[in-house]
Amino acid sequence: MTYDSDNIFAKILRGEIPNKTVYEDDHVLAFEDIAPQAPIHVLLIPKGAYTDMDDFSNRASPQEMSHFLKAIGTITQKLGLDQTGYRLISNCKDHGGQEVPHLHFHILGGEHIGPMRA
Ligand code: 5GP
Repeated sequence: MTYDSDNIFAKILRGEIPNKTVYEDDHVLAFEDIAPQAPIHVLLIPKGAYTDMDDFSNRASPQEMSHFLKAIGTITQKLGLDQTGYRLISNCKDHGGQEVPHLHFHILGGEHIGPMRA
């Protein structure tokens, strides 16, 4: 899949669309989901142009990969989710139900999230 630089998260990264930022550094941005599915619903994205987890695992540098994973802990600790727990989801392509073609992890918490599948 070719990266579409007009996707909504690319626009957020360029500052063309506002977001409620939870955490940001040189390599990642985390912000509140516009349609939260839990009391805490944060999206974590890399600043690099990757369509999904497959693309990221194929093309990202080891530094980008480790930084992205490390950011999960930084954010969950900041939100207190390291104490109560959370669910991490990354939807990939059609069967995964991915809607926005820029790699993102959903971080869901603040209550029991429920079964893996409805
Ligand atoms: P996906 O289905 O691709 O895994 O998840 C895309 C997520 O992006 C959805 O949970 C949706 O609510 C969220 N989303 C879509 N557009 C926007 C937006 O403009 N701003 C924010 N903050 N979230 C968005």
